[in-house]
Amino acid sequence: MRVRAYRFRAYCSNTTARVLKTQLEVACKLYNALLHAEQEEYEKNKRTMSKNELRQLALDLRKRNTEFQALHSQVAQQVAERFYQARERFLEGLANKPKKKKPHRYLSLVYPQSGWKLSDVREVGLGKNKKRRARLYLSKIGFFTLVIHRVFPESQVSQVCVKLYPSGRIHVIFLVEEEAETLGQSSGELKNAVGVDLGITRLATLSDGRYLENPKPLERSLERIRMLQRSLSRKRFLSNNWLKTKTRLAKEHEHIKDFRRDLFFKLGALLAGEYDVLVLEDLDVQGLIQSGTKKRRLRLHDSSFSELRAVLEWEFRKRGKLVLPVPSYNSSRECFLCGGINQSLTLEDRVFLCPHCGFALDRDLNASLVLLKRAGWVPPSVPAVELHPIPPLPTLGLRRQGGAVRQEAPAFRRG
Ligand SMILES: [Zn+2]
Repeated sequence: MRVRAYRFRAYCSNTTARVLKTQLEVACKLYNALLHAEQEEYEKNKRTMSKNELRQLALDLRKRNTEFQALHSQVAQQVAERFYQARERFLEGLANKPKKKKPHRYLSLVYPQSGWKLSDVREVGLGKNKKRRARLYLSKIGFFTLVIHRVFPESQVSQVCVKLYPSGRIHVIFLVEEEAETLGQSSGELKNAVGVDLGITRLATLSDGRYLENPKPLERSLERIRMLQRSLSRKRFLSNNWLKTKTRLAKEHEHIKDFRRDLFFKLGALLAGEYDVLVLEDLDVQGLIQSGTKKRRLRLHDSSFSELRAVLEWEFRKRGKLVLPVPSYNSSRECFLCGGINQSLTLEDRVFLCPHCGFALDRDLNASLVLLKRAGWVPPSVPAVELHPIPPLPTLGLRRQGGAVRQEAPAFRRG
């Protein structure tokens, strides 16, 4: 069994949004109360409370305190579970000690089995604007309208999570337990493979000669982010003006995040539709980030290699196709033709020139071909790789550096 999450955008009235915010504050208080009780228990009896004790304690607190009664009982128990999991992670040495939470950082509620109802799934709009909408009732909070943009098994939902984003957006996440076999099955023999070299100048270079320019979404928004960040730091912590600026800043960051994910998923879908095997390098992203200048670190963060890798892998696995990670050691220094190593290659060199056999090729293209070779797939036409353009990927708009104007995102170009 594997758990899969389906996330939908949710809309609600201002009243419901206010109720949700209040509930989050209450849940945060309950979390902190549990933390406090646990600390007292530990000081008094030198023991930690079990999961069931914590759940019972949450219910007792809810019984005694009218404020906590605003929460649905299962939601209150789930707060206890969340604290329990945080503490377990601490005891296993995986995380820091659970701290007192601040209300503006406590942003989601979970309804385990009951307390929610999905109804009135309907189609709205015509033609291209056709969408499926549904109504979700969350006990003690109210009604939400969901945009169901994809099909999901409504009958197998095991948990519903409502999440408020710092920008004010609300998403509802359904957890569904699925059989592992429901993933796409391989269609028999594996016919073709693609090697993908990730980089800063070009986000992805494919072994067939196509490449994706790095749109650097964070770097483009940096000026605005800096301005907002400065403005935020001048405001009184948790004051209304502080919260307003915080929301604007969060919107900016969310836009960047959405842009990236959108682009990654479209690239993934494109590749997975054309190829059976994906060859990726096993990058040590953390190691890369620790080395290098400030600018380079920023660009590495902006490129989100880990996320890109995860998305590409998912798009292939989902369709029952194969992903082969190969060691990245020296992949850009190795000659694709003779296997010799060019020790003098620096980060600035855009063209790979082999000192042993004189082979010359674009640096990233050579690296992606080397990756393909390491995985045991040798492209048929060695080494003359055909270059061909691809129609641009329809992506989200991207902000121009400094200004508010949106422009078309860069897409695949002839190399
Ligand atoms: Zn060579």
